[in-house]
Amino acid sequence: MTFADLGLSPKVLSAVTDAGYTQPTPIQAGAIPHALLGKDILGIAQTGTGKTASFVLPMLTRLEKGRARARMPRTLILEPTRELAAQVEENFIRYGKNHKLNIALLIGGVSFDEQDKKLERGADVLIATPGRLLDHRERGKLLLNGVEILVIDEADRMLDMGFIPDIERICEMIPFTRQTLFFSATMPPEITKLTEKFLHAPVRVEVSKAASAATNIIQRLVKSGSKPWDKRETLRNLIKAEDAELKNAIIFCNRKVEVSELFRSLLKYDFDAGALHGDMDQRARMQMLANFRDGKLRYLVASDVAARGLDIPDVSHVFNYDVPIHAEDYVHRIGRTGRAGRSGKSFTIATKSDTKYIDAIERLIGNKIEWHDGDLSTVVASEGEDDAPRRGKGAPRRAGRKDDDRKDHDRREKGGERKPRERHARPSEDAAPATVREEQPDVAEVAVADIGERRVRKEAIRSENTERKSSDRNEQRAPERGDTRPQRDSNRPARQRHQEDNDSTVGFGDDMPAFMRIVAKV
Ligand code: AMP
Repeated sequence: MTFADLGLSPKVLSAVTDAGYTQPTPIQAGAIPHALLGKDILGIAQTGTGKTASFVLPMLTRLEKGRARARMPRTLILEPTRELAAQVEENFIRYGKNHKLNIALLIGGVSFDEQDKKLERGADVLIATPGRLLDHRERGKLLLNGVEILVIDEADRMLDMGFIPDIERICEMIPFTRQTLFFSATMPPEITKLTEKFLHAPVRVEVSKAASAATNIIQRLVKSGSKPWDKRETLRNLIKAEDAELKNAIIFCNRKVEVSELFRSLLKYDFDAGALHGDMDQRARMQMLANFRDGKLRYLVASDVAARGLDIPDVSHVFNYDVPIHAEDYVHRIGRTGRAGRSGKSFTIATKSDTKYIDAIERLIGNKIEWHDGDLSTVVASEGEDDAPRRGKGAPRRAGRKDDDRKDHDRREKGGERKPRERHARPSEDAAPATVREEQPDVAEVAVADIGERRVRKEAIRSENTERKSSDRNEQRAPERGDTRPQRDSNRPARQRHQEDNDSTVGFGDDMPAFMRIVAKV
């Protein structure tokens, strides 16, 4: 089958040819002909399957007739995160290059004024995160009764982020005569209920088994002690061991506090790292992503919320600094590598308290994940700790040494100020020759040698430390603990995950499971 067989308009076909696509992907072949006929679609597909074009291309064709009116968009695409919304806008620009369409992107973290102007001009395509969309509507700047096509993308992610009440409200504001294109990687019961309520006789297109892991990705578990400094050292050792094959890597953490800590630590050890999580200023996030995509950053430390669904074509490695608490996240995380048929590697750092999460992942993917062959662990637990993994034969003992990370941690625990001190050695192999210099209070600032990169990284750190002033809706996250701002809907945090807002460590029992005691064999 070719694109010409699908019924798309000549303008769209020409843009598709320019994009270099010769054959529709299965989700495109399955969804586009029905979408062109105005039918509702239930697409069960993950990112990386070409699902964005499966709704953008037929929408462009259908938008060729008619015009937008002020404040009354003709189509609406809902995305769970700002990055995904911006990515969909890029798709509309690329495939809509032969059309003269007004596209408006309504996301938080940027001023309302520009967005108001675009709405006033009349938007053919409105791409929005739910919170910001409702803000505009409540300010009287937006009418949704002209929407002919509604796309709900990444619905299961919306569920995870507590957006379902918002989605229901938005669906009820749009005429029922609309066409609805609904996409989700998985179909938990809440999502099935939503589709039963808001889709009319949908055509179901399922392109791959939900939550199946790609086979072109080598997956390994790596044992580690559970203290932060143990895990960080395990990660550094792992990165060094993979250096020859490692082009770039996304390093996933469960919580934003870990993203921040690990990011700072990697900078301190002279790794060329950036960070991405939901609380960062939008400009810094986009810049960080662009730098990673362009190869200016080799490592991106990220939370699930910030990284889900991002289309970064060529990632060689994924490291799970934390085992994901929700098994499906594992599939999404490792799916950041091995894209478009390339091979990829993923390493998951596992401590003894992760056993039940690893079991759940293995049940979901239907396979046992092999243990990494070789000892990369920090090996020695501190006095009184019984949770370090068993040492491999001949592994060096490092008793008595506290690494920089651990000293920093101790200092923070005591609430003491960091004192300037000398830094003697560069801990990472892939860094420049050793230097001795005075350390300034902000580790991240001094650790970044590249002036061009420094601004962005400082900005990221600053944004972590700056209280959010914005009245933006929390489209990147559900409310955090202690967040006293008024919430629109008490249901919002219903299924909020640990990854962004939970500062407690998850554990279970003190016994180290037998399989974790076994030195890895591949
Ligand atoms: P998505 O699942 O929408 O995130 O798309 C994943 C990647 O596949 C994007 O980089 C698209 O540019 C690319 N893509 C989409 N459709 C096709 C196609 N028919 N042939 C080749 N690549 C495609």
